[in-house]
Amino acid sequence: MELQISNLNKTYSNGVQALKDVSLTIPQGMFGLLGPNGAGKSSLMRTLATLQEADSGSITLGDIDILKNKSKVREILGYLPQEFGVYPKITSYDMLNHIAKLKGISNKGERKDLVESLLNKTNLWHVRNKSLGTYSGGMKQRFGIAQALIGDPRLIIVDEPTAGLDPAERVRFHNLLSEIGENTIVILSTHIVEDISNLCQNMAIICLGEVVAQGNPNDLTKNVVGKIWTKAIEKSELDTYQNEMQVISTHLKAGQTIIHVLSDEKPHSSFKKGAANLEDVYFAEITTRMETVSA
Ligand code: ADP
Repeated sequence: MELQISNLNKTYSNGVQALKDVSLTIPQGMFGLLGPNGAGKSSLMRTLATLQEADSGSITLGDIDILKNKSKVREILGYLPQEFGVYPKITSYDMLNHIAKLKGISNKGERKDLVESLLNKTNLWHVRNKSLGTYSGGMKQRFGIAQALIGDPRLIIVDEPTAGLDPAERVRFHNLLSEIGENTIVILSTHIVEDISNLCQNMAIICLGEVVAQGNPNDLTKNVVGKIWTKAIEKSELDTYQNEMQVISTHLKAGQTIIHVLSDEKPHSSFKKGAANLEDVYFAEITTRMETVSA
């Protein structure tokens, strides 16, 4: 089954055009949606999750029209929003049991099996009787996934999931997501390039409401191979370089400022050829667009 988004547009009442003719084809597996803050990621996620309306365009999941058949979509959707509130006094076991009941799983034995398997899958079994308010950030996120998985969803939407997680929690969360991605569509929205390069077979970069690139992360990276040049500079020289060439990113390494420049030719003999990666693709796509806006 494929998720097909075609020519989606959304302008908020304050005049901000958050989605501009967005078209994406999203196959089974993990799909990364990458973009800076304000790019339109959450607007797209909320529209997919049937929480807000688009002005025009269409979204289909297999033969289901998502924009027209909201109740059908909600049956097959798991959504983990950016801001995920939990009831602090209830245990994860009781909460999952409650949500399963709300989602129509009325058989007690079936519900018990489901809740127990979800608690095991998300590695929360040992804290199943602790109240959600005592959970760490990583545990809350895994609980979020557990609740999103109730009802055997075919589409799972995860919005900015790793903010606030420590490295070990992040790895555990990623492993869980990729396991789930083996037999469903999982859309992971984030501004963290590394999360996408580690996890996703397909991705899109969105900037100022527009899809500016989409494809396999390795194929997208091939487009900039041989065009990335790096140099260690003094911080005070940055303006000069930015005026003279297309500096797409700056990194600090052992106290030094390293610039990455996008250019078909070596910009100067003092530059070294950089090993292109997905972060270079991302910055190459977004820096010029963002500069146009802020200029
Ligand atoms: P992202 O998730 O990529 O950070 P959003 O979809 O939240 O982006 O926002 C896209 C743009 O739409 C931003 O300029 C944001 O300020 C604006 N926006 C988001 N939600 C609303 C809203 N409810 N009303 C008005 N503007 C909004």
